[in-house]
Amino acid sequence: MDIVKRFRTIVGSWAPSEMQKSIDYKARNAGKIIINVNSGHRSQRCSKCGHVNKNNSHGLIFICRNCVFEFNANLNASRKIEVFFIYEY
Ligand SMILES: [Zn+2]
Repeated sequence: MDIVKRFRTIVGSWAPSEMQKSIDYKARNAGKIIINVNSGHRSQRCSKCGHVNKNNSHGLIFICRNCVFEFNANLNASRKIEVFFIYEY
């Protein structure tokens, strides 16, 4: 089993509350803070133009139906979280 599948198997077996506790514990010990961000539409929202469409996401690839911006789906969602963080905190 490759490392990605092993990681998913281990993480997938954890209850969400247990995972959150573990992340909080590790972050606190490392002097980091944890900020929970609502994922609302971030996988559907274009990080370039802001257009939201449920058909924007194609698995691992994000393609905006409005501006044809193409990017890794996870990185596109991460950019939206970054923008949210900058403006909210
Ligand atoms: Zn776009």
